[in-house]
Amino acid sequence: MRTPAAPDRSRFRVLVVEDDDTIGRHLETGLRSHDYAATWSRTGTGALAEATHTSYDVLLLDLGLPDVDGLDVARTLRARHPGLLIIILTARTDDIDVIAGLDAGADDYLVKPFSLTVLLARLRAHLRRRTIASPRQQPISIGDLVLDTTARRCLLHGKDIPLRPKEFELLAVLARQAGAAVSRETLMAEVWDENWFGSTKTLDVTMAGLRRRLTHAAEASARPA
Ligand code: CA
Repeated sequence: MRTPAAPDRSRFRVLVVEDDDTIGRHLETGLRSHDYAATWSRTGTGALAEATHTSYDVLLLDLGLPDVDGLDVARTLRARHPGLLIIILTARTDDIDVIAGLDAGADDYLVKPFSLTVLLARLRAHLRRRTIASPRQQPISIGDLVLDTTARRCLLHGKDIPLRPKEFELLAVLARQAGAAVSRETLMAEVWDENWFGSTKTLDVTMAGLRRRLTHAAEASARPA
């Protein structure tokens, strides 16, 4: 059995934003017992304040908060901290809520109820991917599109196209194998979790977002100035 090297989790700071006492305490305790530095906030306002004086690696964010909309918290913290890993915890299972969450800057989501084991596996996969030091790589060019995987920039005709982290990773995998068919399984394994056997809806949603952004950028650049 392959056992990938685990990143040093003790240095990962996780901010849990959850107004449900049972879930919040369970997450805080569970994360701490697995060597994460976890802090629990019951409100969105408290989380925003907390994130201004401490630098977090991960945000576990409940969407239904008593004071502000969780989506606003995601948007605000995504704008302030581009490298923050944001995982939405939601009881909302409608596609529209998932899309709204991902569009607000979340990298991933878990639908309640979920087990601590699943959350920990998801965290390990995300953090391992971020921890793997990638050597300086040459930008990938496909036609007028340039993908700089080191600087994490996507340019069309020299203009930046803002992409969410998962959209960027998805495009990078596809760009490296340009012209070849890439299976859903490969994409899920490369961009999400090698142990992911669940729904691939998150892939569809991210792919749709990526297509939308690239199409908008292409249309904007084709328009006469
Ligand atoms: Ca809630």
